[in-house]
Amino acid sequence: MNEDNNKQPNGNKGSDARIFIRLLTISIILTVVFNLINTYRILRQTTEIPYSTFIDWINKDYVESVEFQSSKIEVTLKKDASPDEAKLGGRVFRTGLIENDALVPLLIEKNVKFSTPVVYNSPVVSFVLSWILPLVFIFFLFRMITRSLDGRMGGVMGVGKSNAKIYMQQETGVTFADVAGQDEAKESLVEIIDYLHDPEKYSRIGAKQPKGALLVGPPGTGKTLLAKAVAGEAKVTFMSLSGSDFVEMFVGVGASRVRDLFRQAQENAPSIVFIDEIDAIGKSRDNQIGGNDEREQTLNQLLSEMDGFDTSKGIVILAATNRPEVLDKALLRPGRFDRRIIVEKPDLIGRENILKVHSKDVKLGSDVDFKKIALATSGAVGADLANMVNEAALRAVRMGRNEVLQEDLLDAVEVVIAGKEKKDRILSATEKQIVAYHEIGHALAAALQKNTQPVQKITIVPRTMGALGYTMQMPEEEKYLMTKAEMYAEIVVLLAGRSAEEIKFGGITTGASNDIERATNMARAMISMYGMSETFDMMALESIQNRYLDGRAVSNCSPETLAKLDREVLELIKDCHRQAKAIIESQADALDELAQFLIEKETITGEEFMEILKKHTDIAAPEPQDGDGSGDDTKTQ
Ligand code: ADP
Ligand code: ZN
Repeated sequence: MNEDNNKQPNGNKGSDARIFIRLLTISIILTVVFNLINTYRILRQTTEIPYSTFIDWINKDYVESVEFQSSKIEVTLKKDASPDEAKLGGRVFRTGLIENDALVPLLIEKNVKFSTPVVYNSPVVSFVLSWILPLVFIFFLFRMITRSLDGRMGGVMGVGKSNAKIYMQQETGVTFADVAGQDEAKESLVEIIDYLHDPEKYSRIGAKQPKGALLVGPPGTGKTLLAKAVAGEAKVTFMSLSGSDFVEMFVGVGASRVRDLFRQAQENAPSIVFIDEIDAIGKSRDNQIGGNDEREQTLNQLLSEMDGFDTSKGIVILAATNRPEVLDKALLRPGRFDRRIIVEKPDLIGRENILKVHSKDVKLGSDVDFKKIALATSGAVGADLANMVNEAALRAVRMGRNEVLQEDLLDAVEVVIAGKEKKDRILSATEKQIVAYHEIGHALAAALQKNTQPVQKITIVPRTMGALGYTMQMPEEEKYLMTKAEMYAEIVVLLAGRSAEEIKFGGITTGASNDIERATNMARAMISMYGMSETFDMMALESIQNRYLDGRAVSNCSPETLAKLDREVLELIKDCHRQAKAIIESQADALDELAQFLIEKETITGEEFMEILKKHTDIAAPEPQDGDGSGDDTKTQ
């Protein structure tokens, strides 16, 4: 990412003035309150007396001192003086000012101290002191507080001011050349780019451009990258905000952020507004009990802003999600996000191209074969591949080389798939033996069955992601369909690890949990989703939810059927388990020799493995398939 030309939005004049006025209003209110409280306090401290009583007290020698203030006279009594009225309220009293030329001579005659405060007595000065000064003080104090809070929570006063979070780039510098393998998505976006180049062309004819497009796909497939590339190609401003930024604790904040975002987009038009994770606000409104007021308000605001903004200015809203099924239907209505662009996981060629894009600036050795890496990374998304290239480059540096070799890339693939090697986790001799037999079990089942992928590498070096060892298989070509026979064979491979442990050691360990989980999922899917069982024929018992995330299956059949499904799955697994054990038992010698070899070397390659295996069996290699095709012969006993 190049964030160097990223800048804070500058179109804030309007909201600055708004905030200034808000601050001023608050300061004035506080000043009034402050003055009222002050006056009340003074009034409470002193009791008011009639002017005649005041004169009376002077004559009776009760008064010690008198102060003439701007609007009243303050009277302090002598300590020993205790007129009846004074019992009510202390020694200090006040009375109104009355024009009275005889007062001063009387005070002099009775020897009463009298004075008037020099400064405070001027109405101007007292106004400044009690109004202007507190006002200014409060105003600046608040401004300081809001400034320091602004970055963290959008400001106390400017609740909902979102400029702290909008990420804006005048020029993204990303083009379609930086996005590999998403040709269909790019094609759909070309029109938007053309429109941003020349909105006139469309409005002349009367064609309305789509206001927004929804990018749908799994995480890391390049949705953000595509949005940036659209902005880069069209040379317009790119503004982005995540859906979760809108959702705050306070009701109304999100809505005001949406308003702000659209206002800024208009100010910076032509522009691309990218809202990541739009499902955070766009969740369907009716599928929740009680609902969420804040999110609904935010969504409503978004809907009305999308309806309201002027497309002729050249603003296009792109949004990304990996849960399109939860989005509110209103969002997908024509005139809003009416285009849906699918950003799928890359296929073989896509992965190869992504690897090429990301190794543009990487020095590559002559043996690098991206096709092989692409084959080994089925299911990886762009973000994974970018990460792999970088890991490979880092490894090359660690190895003191000045170019990246194929082995660096292969190692990086392993790191991303299975975690880093954990050299400091020392396995005991017995454990090492168990792991070795387990892995060879997998490899044997893979090599001795048809319909499996060749073994690429076996290792018993523990990895950070929990694996104590693993067997890496490498497909020879990208597969889009799996046959029943292939799935069956794969389950056998998965169960063969544990089967080898059983056959060799009699006992069993905890090390097969991941194999078991994967085998079970696969067996279940075969029956419940792919129509591969006799009992249920082509009935769908489960369907996938959240296709772009974890792909969890939810059942849509009765509990009785589910129980039957469970039994059927169990039968299938037992069958595969028997098959796995049969394969391993038939190759007990090869198992021993291969396991010993693995314990010694810790890592062996597919070729080394096949060489040893060939000594024990006349099956040359699993690749050349003779074709009775059905694959049912893997399912013996
Ligand atoms: P998403 O928004 O779909 O979760 P991103 O766009 O953030 O994914 O992708 C993350 C990173 O992965 C990108 O910055 C880029 O380096 C890399 N990447 C993903 N898809 C591709 C692709 N098709 N071509 C090149 N790089 C990609
Ligand atoms: Zn295993």
